[in-house]
Amino acid sequence: MDIQDRIEKLRKLIDLNSYKYYVEDNPELEDWEYDKLFRELKTLEEQHPEYITPESPTQRVGGISEKFNQVAHKIRLYSLDNSNNSDELKQWYNRVLKDVGTPRNSQLSLLNETYNDIELVSELKIDGLAISLTYKNGKFVQGLTRGDGVIGEDITNNLKTIKAIPLKLFEDIDVEVRGEIYMPITSFEKLNKIQIENNQKPFANPRNAAAGSIRQLDPNITASRDLSIFIYAAIFDKSANILTHSAALDKCKSLGFKVNNYRICKNINEVIAFCDEMSEYRKTLNYATDGVVIKVNSIAMQNELGFTARAPKWATAFKFPPEEVWSELLDVEFSVGRTGVITPVAIIKPVNLSGSVVSRASMYNFDEIQRLDISLNDEVLIKKAAEIIPKVVRSRKTDNSKPLKLPDICPCCATPLVEVEGEVARYCPNTKGCKAQIKGRIEYFVSKAAMDIDGFGESIIEQLVDRKMVYKASDIYKLTYDDFLMLDLIKDKSANNLLNAIENSKNVLFSKFINALGIKLVGKESSDILAQNYENIELLKKAKYEDLAEIMGIGEKMAKSIVDYFSDSDNIAMIDEMINLGVKITNKYSGIKDLRLKGQSFVITGTLDTMSREIAQEKLKELGAKTPSSVSKNTTYVVVGANPGSKAAKAEELGITILNEKELIDIINGD
Ligand code: NAD
Repeated sequence: MDIQDRIEKLRKLIDLNSYKYYVEDNPELEDWEYDKLFRELKTLEEQHPEYITPESPTQRVGGISEKFNQVAHKIRLYSLDNSNNSDELKQWYNRVLKDVGTPRNSQLSLLNETYNDIELVSELKIDGLAISLTYKNGKFVQGLTRGDGVIGEDITNNLKTIKAIPLKLFEDIDVEVRGEIYMPITSFEKLNKIQIENNQKPFANPRNAAAGSIRQLDPNITASRDLSIFIYAAIFDKSANILTHSAALDKCKSLGFKVNNYRICKNINEVIAFCDEMSEYRKTLNYATDGVVIKVNSIAMQNELGFTARAPKWATAFKFPPEEVWSELLDVEFSVGRTGVITPVAIIKPVNLSGSVVSRASMYNFDEIQRLDISLNDEVLIKKAAEIIPKVVRSRKTDNSKPLKLPDICPCCATPLVEVEGEVARYCPNTKGCKAQIKGRIEYFVSKAAMDIDGFGESIIEQLVDRKMVYKASDIYKLTYDDFLMLDLIKDKSANNLLNAIENSKNVLFSKFINALGIKLVGKESSDILAQNYENIELLKKAKYEDLAEIMGIGEKMAKSIVDYFSDSDNIAMIDEMINLGVKITNKYSGIKDLRLKGQSFVITGTLDTMSREIAQEKLKELGAKTPSSVSKNTTYVVVGANPGSKAAKAEELGITILNEKELIDIINGD
């Protein structure tokens, strides 16, 4: 293949995968594979500049979808060039020194200086999604994705649901800030668990989960996902007299933005030391980072250095090497979760991966095994991205490779597995009889975030279930001292400890009790939301689908799952039995909760000035009101903001009281 053909082929491949990554939030390549293609293209274009075209991916930034309103950025957003090792960092630094040392046309030329060293700022590179936020007079007015750098998608309403984004700054100034939206790793893992239980494709990494969550057409979905932001750049008015990048970051912090720590480095060697330090430190963080960003601190020098078509010359990203290693696939274990979903786990020849020995790796689901074309005895590439459980990302055949048979019966109870058209998971439908599911449910029931029964380890649960002493959670409260003594390795002292732990668990918070029930899709946070909205278990048992689906953070799928759970008479009998056996549930939200708007319903239309619609709805719901999306004769008030929709007219037609924003705030504040 001649060079021009190869360049064309690379461009097509890169464009296709950029689309999957930026627009569909659904990448098919690993980042390092994409980076490899990109580097090859860049090198070929450097060797043959005559083939460079403005459409080449090396000359452009990101991608853009048509899902949202497209808005032009006032000031362009760029990507970053990257350096993969200390030599490349030094080369970048030398270019910077050379360029600022020979000033061309800026105020620096007046200084007529040469530089041996210049001040740099090093920051962690957050692996998320770039956005820009515009504030007018201290108020948040617009939020855009980076898009292709020139045009972004307007996601203002979704951004308003992120609590770390201030709607109002501590000073009434005009400023545009830029930052990275991210999803904490623990929240990403939880979300993926739910995706899998719900037969939906898990997100590839926290970055994709964040990008997928922020680019939702329904802000309620965004609000239900745990997202946060770090601000890493700002464009202030000249009058603010901000002369360095570090001063801009400090100013952002004082305005109320969340800004990550940074380090001022006197030269590139200090930067290299920082990168070394961070490559270990980042493993302790609850957010994914993929490198360190190094920026020239002086804004005058930044202006002097300028940009290439795609990236600033005054900054570079040091990318952490991917943490991955090849091993051998010895076996595949199919584990059955508490909801019956079958999860394949790769059993590999133990290998050292970023400091720990790994012998098991996740393969998510059956589709993933087929997609990666995995056979037994294959060589498999294991990757640990941002401290998430290691996963198999590639396979290659060996002489010993032999086909891997996917089970069609439950590995625990032999019930034929169920596969639903269009869904990625297979599951065991024997909910009540499958021991693996029973064990899973009991393990969940006793866990810290649920009933918190200390000492109830895996082996005890296994024995209790295998010996048919525990079948459902309430059976735990019937266990006696003699029952425990029958178990292997349990003596007088541990039997007493276990009985005490069971006794102590009887006084439980309502939110933890709900979580302990293990209702499909309902986790710790949702249980807490339910406890805020329902006074006690009796009311929750009778909760109506429409009411549940209305609650911020619950939504339709979870509402259905909750109603299904409580319509099963076995579940009701189990809860009643626990209460009869002495379980006392207290709701920390009862009493302190002000439900003075209970029974009233508010429909909000148009844009509010002081808060987003979602926040206003949240506040009203906290006070017991309902906030349906459409006006009916049952609506108590319609709140009308700027540019209202047809709902305002409908309210007038039906004779419903109309409130302005001030009146709404008075009602919320109880004035
Ligand atoms: P990038 O992620 O390499 O760097 C630029 C981005 O870094 C900025 O836009 C900003 O969002 C972010 N950033 C995070 N912390 C920052 C900080 N402290 N200061 C400044 N910026 C910070 O570049 P990109 O153009 O967003 O994406 C390119 C990368 O995306 C590739 O290197 C590749 O890894 C990945 N990608 C992967 C695929 C795939 O198929 N897997 C496809 C396309 C792109």
